[in-house]
Amino acid sequence: MIAEIIAVGTELLMGQINNTNARYISERFPDADVYVYYHTVVGDNASRLSSCLNIALGRADVVLTTGGLGPTQDDLTKETISKELGLRMLPDEETLQKIHGFFNKLGRKATINNEKQGYFPEGSIILRNDNGTAPGCIIEKDGKTVVMLPGPPWEMEPMFEKSVLAHFMQKANQKLKSVYIKMFGIGESSMETLINDLVTEQQNPTIAPYAKMGETTLRVTVKYTPGKDDPDQMMSPVLEEIQKRLGRYIYSYKNEELHQVTADLLIKNKTGIAIAESCTGGKLTSLLTDIPGISAVLYMGAVTYSNQSKVSVLGVSPDTIERFGAVSSETAVEMAEGARRTCSCGLGLSITGIAGPGGGTDEKPVGTVFIALSDRNETKVRKLNLWGTRDRIRHSSCLNALDMIRRHELGMEDED
Ligand code: ATP
Ligand code: MG
Repeated sequence: MIAEIIAVGTELLMGQINNTNARYISERFPDADVYVYYHTVVGDNASRLSSCLNIALGRADVVLTTGGLGPTQDDLTKETISKELGLRMLPDEETLQKIHGFFNKLGRKATINNEKQGYFPEGSIILRNDNGTAPGCIIEKDGKTVVMLPGPPWEMEPMFEKSVLAHFMQKANQKLKSVYIKMFGIGESSMETLINDLVTEQQNPTIAPYAKMGETTLRVTVKYTPGKDDPDQMMSPVLEEIQKRLGRYIYSYKNEELHQVTADLLIKNKTGIAIAESCTGGKLTSLLTDIPGISAVLYMGAVTYSNQSKVSVLGVSPDTIERFGAVSSETAVEMAEGARRTCSCGLGLSITGIAGPGGGTDEKPVGTVFIALSDRNETKVRKLNLWGTRDRIRHSSCLNALDMIRRHELGMEDED
């Protein structure tokens, strides 16, 4: 099937936002045998949207719109399309109740504009919105399918994954199953090089890389016929091959975050940890405290930003700071050992570095970060040479620290 995506929104035309919705849908639709041939962007204007719709219906089987489903005056996608297709707008009780319930809770009354979100072109399949108020819908008419989705990506993407892909798969009596493999310690391009042949050769399952700041993810998706195929069996040779090539970087097959996996390990192993942070200003501790149950093992997160606090709180020797500097392997070691000693626990971890943009020298440029991990037997230090903005350097430092803790808890050798 051939599809056209119409992104509705004046902001897109003005260059205020990127059309990431079209990119996302184009990447995902082929898994359901729908191929995107055209991208259109149109402003919040009824007559121009109507003409785009008619052009799209003339050249595609599936027309998918994003945006313009909200309650305001300029949100006119549903009304315009329904008029153009000659369909009446009918109320959907479930959606209307949800809207009234929402306003009742706020102690306000829904306006006619708000109620507008509860009306859909007759015969629509309504797609519930778990992350916002505007539902989406699917209309099938004269052999064509029109899909309308909300604009905000965090509403659109889950709806697309859950309802739209499933709708098209169901037509073919097929289903999709995906596994998200998360990695740390390898960049996206090196990962792609290591599995390039798999990515290009594989048809089912398909393999697609994703990149997030400092993290690398691979999505493996299998298309199968329920009752006939076993998706796990179809997936397993590919997963085994990926494990063989990239296993040392993989920390989760369940799309979890690194701080989740690391916190779970600390909790499971009952390893008490004390953290001393300098350049990350408490970010690492904050990530760990996102995880419920961490209080059983997290003894302390100290932000020792000044030299004086490194000395007085952690017991770092002033002489070490004087001789080697606050950003040095020696200071990192004493910070980690001091944190562990202060709390009498199993692990002490420290981070000290230069996050920039100022403060770098030839010998220690911006991005120089030392992370030390001390247990009852020894203290290991990792020296990082990071690049990028202050934000990226700090985030990346936290991820490296988490990875070091994770490897320690699994009894793995350190990567460096
Ligand atoms: P709302 O109920 O929030 O008004 P909506 O369905 O009416 O949602 P729009 O008003 O068109 O959607 O857009 C809302 C926001 O969604 C935009 O401000 C923008 O942040 C995001 N957005 C819209 N279209 C796109 C797009 N094509 N790509 C990425 N983001 C988009
Ligand atoms: Mg809107």
